[in-house]
Amino acid sequence: MNRGAAKSVPRVLKEGRIVTDESLAKACAETLVEWCAAVRRPLPWRLSPTPYHVWVSEIMLQQTRIEAVIPYYARFLEALPDIRALAEVEEDKLLKLWEGLGYYSRARNLQKAARQVMADYNGELPRKAGELKKLPGIGDYTAGAIASIACGEPEPAVDGNVLRVLSRLLENGGDVLSPAVKKSVTSLLREHYPRGEAAALTTEGLMELGETVCIPNGAPKCELCPWQSLCRAHQNGTEENYPVKAPPRPRRIEERSVLLLRWGDRWAIRQREKKGLLAGLWEFPNELGAVTEEELRARFPQAERIAPCGRARHVFTHVEWRMEGWLLDLKRPLPGLTWETAAEIRSRYSIPTALKAYLALIE
Ligand code: SF4
Repeated sequence: MNRGAAKSVPRVLKEGRIVTDESLAKACAETLVEWCAAVRRPLPWRLSPTPYHVWVSEIMLQQTRIEAVIPYYARFLEALPDIRALAEVEEDKLLKLWEGLGYYSRARNLQKAARQVMADYNGELPRKAGELKKLPGIGDYTAGAIASIACGEPEPAVDGNVLRVLSRLLENGGDVLSPAVKKSVTSLLREHYPRGEAAALTTEGLMELGETVCIPNGAPKCELCPWQSLCRAHQNGTEENYPVKAPPRPRRIEERSVLLLRWGDRWAIRQREKKGLLAGLWEFPNELGAVTEEELRARFPQAERIAPCGRARHVFTHVEWRMEGWLLDLKRPLPGLTWETAAEIRSRYSIPTALKAYLALIE
């Protein structure tokens, strides 16, 4: 279907840089700000958008849905209302506040950055994206969000949502997963970004558009879009051809055996390495590969009972754990492990979501 394309609108130049004509950019910027002011959702972090509030919310929102973040955000700010409190909190308490959100390195980086802000910036987050990006865990997107929303700086925050919306608006067939397209979209937006309150509304407007109107996985709701008369894909009926993405690399599958070792009413747990996947969290002993009952009997002669106790699966970004659980009743504890009751494990230790099925089982 061709609804009469405005052929003079955007172009992708030979060298890969996207350009728009000035009038299109101006019209898009103005309609977006007006639209956002009228429709944006009153999310908790928008009610009082200090740099700290925007920062915490953006870190939580990485890989987590808005509805799921809202209660965590409230609990987190109640316990740690400012940067000093975050810098000084004990790590165990911090991880407990984060429990369920996953990707715990985000929480650790928040604290590292808070300590750096206390030491180097007198307890105040810097305003400029370039300075913000020097802090642990703050990348281009988060820096852009803090700088524009909380400080009114003309700095875009470009994520998958923004890339999708812009690729439809401009009918840009570049691979949105490629750094080159992200860089090009970022510099295009930067050229046209407003300052002050309009900067905040532009960033939030792009987020709102991507999350509620120009949605992924299905037809965008163009009838609700402030850009429907400006959008090239809508004019050409090609909305569903964008964004273009190169096929992802397949995830690595890992078979794992999880050992629920019981001694009386206590269960064995151990702390993971301080680096790598799920760094520093507590877990039930587990190992790569499948084991058989015979192997376990040979390795644990002190076990009175050994029985399989169910399978579970957890998907990380690059790897998928397919787990088989084994319950072993032991006559005496093994050294090198921590032995606690199920209630203590639940209340005092941060167990990763990947192993929550087995925590529920022992409870
Ligand atoms: Fe997305 Fe449709 Fe709006 Fe274009 S008009 S930006 S395709 S929602």
